[in-house]
Amino acid sequence: MKIVIAQFKHETNTFSPVPTPLERFGGGAPPPEGPAVLEAYRGTGSAIAAFIELAERAGAVIETPIAASAAPSAPCDDSVFDYVSGRICEAVARGCDAVLLDLHGAMVTASHDDGEGELLRRIRAVAPGIMIGVALDMHTNLSATMVENASVIAGYQTYPHIDMHETGLRAGRPILASLQGCPLPTMVWGSRPMLTHVMRQGSDDEPNRSLQARARELEAEGMLGATVFVGFPHADIPIVALTAVAVDHDPARARAACDELLDMAWQRREGFVYQLEPLEQSLARASELADTAPGSGPIVLLDHFDNCASGGTMDTTTVLGAILAAGLREVAAFAIYDPQAVLAMRQAGVGARVTLSLGGKLPMPSIGRGGEPLQVTGEVVTLVDGRFRNRGPMGRGQQVNMGASGVLRVGGVDIVVISEHVEPHDIAALEAVGIDPARYRFLMLKSRVHWRAGLRQYARAVVECAGTGVCTSDYASLVYRKLRRPIYPLDAVPGA
Ligand SMILES: [Zn+2]
Repeated sequence: MKIVIAQFKHETNTFSPVPTPLERFGGGAPPPEGPAVLEAYRGTGSAIAAFIELAERAGAVIETPIAASAAPSAPCDDSVFDYVSGRICEAVARGCDAVLLDLHGAMVTASHDDGEGELLRRIRAVAPGIMIGVALDMHTNLSATMVENASVIAGYQTYPHIDMHETGLRAGRPILASLQGCPLPTMVWGSRPMLTHVMRQGSDDEPNRSLQARARELEAEGMLGATVFVGFPHADIPIVALTAVAVDHDPARARAACDELLDMAWQRREGFVYQLEPLEQSLARASELADTAPGSGPIVLLDHFDNCASGGTMDTTTVLGAILAAGLREVAAFAIYDPQAVLAMRQAGVGARVTLSLGGKLPMPSIGRGGEPLQVTGEVVTLVDGRFRNRGPMGRGQQVNMGASGVLRVGGVDIVVISEHVEPHDIAALEAVGIDPARYRFLMLKSRVHWRAGLRQYARAVVECAGTGVCTSDYASLVYRKLRRPIYPLDAVPGA
């Protein structure tokens, strides 16, 4: 028995100006191939690690052609997509009994709005009838092409995504069972015309909390798979929607479960709409909370318009600039992406005072904004190589590279500056630059929901700060040309 196991993950923000070269899929280097995949992922909290475990336990021969995973950014070049897809298809063409894929589900390429659908179609073209198990992110924009060309699909049931490994098990187990003689289950899916707001998608918040709980309950009652995908709204493509997929040996039961989940989401659609607060008001509220909120630890200031794990440039300075202008002190800010600034800090050395044009290097034509760097003068207090291993619970054990990094102290603000895009969701990221959140009154994070995974425990309170960026929380400001219409809440939808 031979199983091909691969990973190809990219969440594409079609509004993002951040390029997506092959090196982005390996954290600043070409992605691992062959045995290096096993070395990189075995034993980690990822779906691909779960596939490896399942296959090894079954005594299967494993081929791991490639494991490519990039932080979200602009559409993938055709050459990159063809290369990674080609490595996977070549491995499948050499002969195998099943394919297990760790994908994202929201990849857009220069030529394909539905990257995963195209990949799966190519695999099926090479090996018609081959069994394919797929693990997907909750932010998948699911399509008919994906469902038709896969055998079993399972998606994360948590956001922050702390069940990647479990999702791999849910996608892989029915495939392994079929290899051992069980019949292959049926898979059905459906969608509702909803553009859910990322800031309202957390699985600790209603209505997604109840939706995910119901999906888990269906599985506990014996269904082979039940997944609700909230979708990824920063993609101007026709397949964006809230979708669900159900896997079972009984097609009628699968259909009923899928429809139940979709109806539940549609009935509670208002809960997925986000209300913005003006930045000045947010910072004033944060200052008040710092004096009055019970407990200990910093007030988290969430710069949610510029999250690199949603395709943000991670170098916009609106929120940081407002923090400095407001004179807030005892602040740590994670992080501004600016390799040039880090280079200047390294040339100056620890202890030196430098004046920098910080951030704002990438123009954002999709939202009509140029780069807006911030002129700052401060002391270089830390310089590191920026490599660390996630402690979890999200991406536990995975090696992360934020590149050469440092801390610049400007007035009362310790600004972390990094050279590779990394969303702060793990305490190890802060520790890597010597930041102990307990020592600060405020902690600015460029994140939306994932920070909760490993950092919420340090926060006394959280204030969401509306800044600038291509993962803007003001969806009315995005110009959608290809999105399905009508879609809630942008349009009046019949039946809504
Ligand atoms: Zn996601």
